[in-house]
Amino acid sequence: MRGIYLHIPFCLRKCSYCDFYSVEADAAAISKFRDLLARETTLLRDRFPEDAAAPSDTVYFGGGTPTVLPPETLCGLLDAVRERFPVEPDAEITVEANPGTVSPEQLSALRNGGFTRISIGVQSFTPSILRTLGRIHGREEVRRTVRDARAAGFDSLGIDLIFGIPGQRAGQWEADLEKTLGFLPAHVSVYALAPEPGTPIHAAILRGQLLMPPDDSVAEMYETARRVLSAAGYRQYEISNFALPGHESRHNVKYWKREGTAGFGPSAHSLLFPRERAPHGLRAANPPSLAEYGKAIREGRLAWTVEQACRYEDAWKESLLFGLRMTDGVDLGDLEQTIGAPPDPLRDAVNELVAGGRLLEENGRLRLPGELLFVSNEVLQRLA
Ligand code: SF4
Repeated sequence: MRGIYLHIPFCLRKCSYCDFYSVEADAAAISKFRDLLARETTLLRDRFPEDAAAPSDTVYFGGGTPTVLPPETLCGLLDAVRERFPVEPDAEITVEANPGTVSPEQLSALRNGGFTRISIGVQSFTPSILRTLGRIHGREEVRRTVRDARAAGFDSLGIDLIFGIPGQRAGQWEADLEKTLGFLPAHVSVYALAPEPGTPIHAAILRGQLLMPPDDSVAEMYETARRVLSAAGYRQYEISNFALPGHESRHNVKYWKREGTAGFGPSAHSLLFPRERAPHGLRAANPPSLAEYGKAIREGRLAWTVEQACRYEDAWKESLLFGLRMTDGVDLGDLEQTIGAPPDPLRDAVNELVAGGRLLEENGRLRLPGELLFVSNEVLQRLA
């Protein structure tokens, strides 16, 4: 089963920490974008008919802020996807939303139009932290959006949080987690802030106007999240993701299991499996530019600026780097059956990490020990 991702590159206002590709919404650009995205799905289907015929069991509208688009546009795009690709009747269809950007009527229209899951970018409940992040909402908008989404029939509802923010204290983070649990979400994601060069928050840190919390405090916040969420019955299934049973993001699991996704919209990435051309996968990426993307699609060609057939070594490396993000880890036998024997340098690196206690190998599965999840990058770097 393959997944489908649509990147909606519009936001009401840019947050201070964001390095996802998005621009401030403008009505004219939004109306042109809908047609571009639909045309892109046709272009991909026509170029890779065999891949396009594979069934999809997830469709994910991310961004940006997809709910900046009217629900009829989002539902129309979902219909366009269904017309071109065989989407399973029980597919997981997710929309990302920001608190305060959707009315009860819009949420009902999305639910009735086929969306089954909503992921709400809350990030924090602390007013000063929300200001540092440049978010456009407060706690009241979160309360209303969660209530309205539930009333619209979104039982599978996720809340995203960020920690390790300049000025954030341990008690505030714990309170954010408690407030999140009060909304009874089915899924919670917790991400450590990683200020990227080029973002206003990064510039403010460089100027000394903001101070990042010490690394050990951030690590402690992560452990607090693991403790609080697991005590509340959420299973950690990935470094940053926790879910009640049956509510894991099937779509995101595809990235970690390297199962293949077709991505549409500016900055979207794809991993396709055209058997003859790239048995280990074909990686492709659209440019993070609406203008460049639009020009290519209007000229009747895919906008890919990256198009690379994976070698078998790439397939192994990616399978470990992404798969080890999951708490269940990877099944080495399954990988060997799918890809072939692991390349010697990678096997040596794995053996070295297992011998040093940095990776655990049990019953043919390889995984990160729980206490190293927060510093997983250091371990995975060795494999990279
Ligand atoms: S709403 Fe999300 S995508 Fe948009 S600017 Fe903020 S963080 Fe970035």
